[in-house]
Amino acid sequence: MSTPASLLARVRRETAPAAKRLLFRVGAYDAVRRVRPSDGIAILRYHAVCGPEGEAYVEPSICVTPAAFERHVGYLTSRYRVLPLPDAVACLRAGKSLPPNAVAITFDDGYADNLPAARVLRRHGVGATFYITTGCLSGEAPFWPSEIRQVVARITEPVIRLRAAGSEMTIPCATPVERRTALRTLAKLFKSHSIPVRERLRDELRAAAGGGETISHMLTWDQLRQMHGMGMTIGAHTVTHPNLPNAGLEDARREIVDAKVRLERELDAPVTMFSYPNGGAERYMTPEVASLVGQAGYDAATTSRNGFAGPSSDLFALERVQVQERVEDLAFALEVERFAFKPASRAVAQQ
Ligand SMILES: [Zn+2]
Repeated sequence: MSTPASLLARVRRETAPAAKRLLFRVGAYDAVRRVRPSDGIAILRYHAVCGPEGEAYVEPSICVTPAAFERHVGYLTSRYRVLPLPDAVACLRAGKSLPPNAVAITFDDGYADNLPAARVLRRHGVGATFYITTGCLSGEAPFWPSEIRQVVARITEPVIRLRAAGSEMTIPCATPVERRTALRTLAKLFKSHSIPVRERLRDELRAAAGGGETISHMLTWDQLRQMHGMGMTIGAHTVTHPNLPNAGLEDARREIVDAKVRLERELDAPVTMFSYPNGGAERYMTPEVASLVGQAGYDAATTSRNGFAGPSSDLFALERVQVQERVEDLAFALEVERFAFKPASRAVAQQ
């Protein structure tokens, strides 16, 4: 049986761009939205807003260009009710209906390019929730998913040898294809170990590159305060971006609590929204981790599970919609996918 994620991937893959463009141009999505308004909420999941220069710090599949983002925001504000996520959560918690065709915008990680994105949102009179990896702002420590991209680009040997995980690993990185594969292998490795082991692997990787400087592409605390002052919601995305179930419960608790404490101190405001780092095929959240988030005093948490949130959603396992570059794809997701990807029941969400 296919999982919702693989089904979603298939629906997206098998619906040709030309078909989506045609549906968009003839107003099919506008018609669907008017005839069958959505009673759930699409919580959109963005990461970086950048051009090709972003390849230095972020996986291209999770970037949208500034021009596309501007189009997305124009499209959303003219057709949907863009709600601050805490307002939507308050509605769901109180058992009240959401306004029809509700959308909330979220960003994971805390890239510096999120500041101009916040300005675009403000110009259109809406806000978003920005989930911040608190240990990586102002260049305090490199954000590991960005750092591995820069370190692998510096390696001149044809292979990377790592030993910290118990057995020696040899990762080829002589050609561009091998380097791309190496990045996927390293990301998987970094997510699948405890934080101390991940840090040892990171040191070995840095040594393999013969040192060199990693440039921070993350926000500074001043920029974050600026965004908060613009009315943006700031949420937490842990301190160092681990896969929380693999961090062990004590380190997971520290990552969840310390991120909240730091943000509240820096912003002098309560922080109530949390987003679990990572996603995909690996387990990145569990019921135990979700209860740590609740115990830490957050009101809600978003996942990387594709879907539309609604009254039956678990507030600590809210589904999101991963955003793609073209506005036609965004429209397709909002109007067609919602029929296939309804909120999972609480029982299912806890698995
Ligand atoms: Zn993340």
